[in-house]
Amino acid sequence: MSPHMTPEEFRHHGKQVVDWIADYLAGIESRPVVSPVRPGEIRGALPAHPPERGEPFESVLADLERVLLPGITHWQHPGFFGYFPSNSSGPAILGDLLSSGLGVQGMLWVTSPACTELETVVLDWLAELLGLPDRFRTDAAGGGVIQDSASSACLVALLAALHRAGGGRVAAEGVDRRYTLYVTSQTHSSLEKAARIAGLGAAAVRVVDVDPRTLAMDPGHLRALLAGDEAAGAAPAMVCATVGTTSTTAVDPVAAIGAVCRERGVWLHVDAAYAGVAAVCPEFRWLNDGVAEYADSYATNPHKWLLTTFDCGVLWTADRAPLLGALSILPEYLRNAATDSGSVVDYRDWQVPLGRRFRALKLWSVIRWYGAEGLRAHIRKGVALAGELARWITADPGFELHEPRPLGLVCVRPLWPGLTEEEADEATLRLMELLNASGTMCLTHTRIAGRVTLRIAIGAPATERRHVAQAWARLRREHAALRAALAGRPRVRKGRGSG
Ligand SMILES: *Cc1c(COP(=O)(O)O)cnc(C)c1O
Repeated sequence: MSPHMTPEEFRHHGKQVVDWIADYLAGIESRPVVSPVRPGEIRGALPAHPPERGEPFESVLADLERVLLPGITHWQHPGFFGYFPSNSSGPAILGDLLSSGLGVQGMLWVTSPACTELETVVLDWLAELLGLPDRFRTDAAGGGVIQDSASSACLVALLAALHRAGGGRVAAEGVDRRYTLYVTSQTHSSLEKAARIAGLGAAAVRVVDVDPRTLAMDPGHLRALLAGDEAAGAAPAMVCATVGTTSTTAVDPVAAIGAVCRERGVWLHVDAAYAGVAAVCPEFRWLNDGVAEYADSYATNPHKWLLTTFDCGVLWTADRAPLLGALSILPEYLRNAATDSGSVVDYRDWQVPLGRRFRALKLWSVIRWYGAEGLRAHIRKGVALAGELARWITADPGFELHEPRPLGLVCVRPLWPGLTEEEADEATLRLMELLNASGTMCLTHTRIAGRVTLRIAIGAPATERRHVAQAWARLRREHAALRAALAGRPRVRKGRGSG
């Protein structure tokens, strides 16, 4: 007998799976947000060896429920405020399922023309929805491509930038000069990773000063660094400006940075992984200031705040030629008439891997289900809730709000009168552990000017006002209790391990 699942069996189990997901999402609020398991606990509960004989699919579902769910942190929980939102949504899940159902490999136009052409159209749509420039469109010199992540997007942008900076020689001859890359202390770590992967090394990453209050890049310092480095024989390849940094959603002055890049002929990459999608709302179009005039490449992640289940990061470039120059290789086994004709897009030349999933299907499903209106309503809700929380914080003398606070992320420092800075930082981390162990919420932290600060990122589709209000009430309550407990002791324990 054939070991394969028949279409009828698939229909049966497929319905079970869809029911399971619907029940999971409907009941998600009753689960503890952060998984409490210890390292190795899940692994220890799983068989060490694979089955010799096939098992019924029900066993997989049963183990999902019994063994795996305790080890799941529920990112779609309305009390999940950690990192940045990683939105999922019904239409995205179904679009992804359809992509799996088709099982298409979209590396070349010819390997499934609709996979490529839908992606082109959907990314032109998205550029229009976000108010991004026409030159990012594929019918102009540029174009968009779906990547697995913003990290891949910045790596690919760096490879294109190196291609341009090296006059097209880097692809053939390798890194032949001391190329440099410009970031700030607030830039995402994926830029340094890209520099390492590209063979430039972390030493090639030059750190531009930020404004101490806004944490935005100082374009004057960028100009000075570029000039100094060039005089010392370096070849500046790329500047990364961030619109909405990961730590605090600081916004670099893209127009001023872009003007410096243009003076020097340096590639400008704009990393708007989290914040970029907010430009779907006209009132947040200012996030794009300078992008149309100056950006050589631009990345944002529908898989963060735009309802498109991971993975779906988008990279646009204003000129696809350096990208293709850096990454195109045509081995004989991939040759085909369509590629030879030059009249089609082969997205394998726009990314690191060869193979690619049909990710455009889920983004297409999302955009069609929500419409521009629905997408705007989602962003606006998150921003409004964050605004309300920020007002509550401002009114409470026990906490300090970090500003500017442009979108859905609220950074807040609980105050600990009587404690040293170091003790206060430890107390804030302890408070966060207590809150995360409560099962009702997930928060993460950052450091601003060296001080531990809590991050509350609002933007899950399930999050309503009451969830934010409950989280704030618990934060105040636990803070007051811990403050009282610490005040009762002569001294907070010094740094970890000091006895
Ligand atoms: C989240 C984030 C990234 C990384 O995103 P991935 O898609 O996970 O690689 C890069 N830059 C910024 C500003 C981010 O917030």
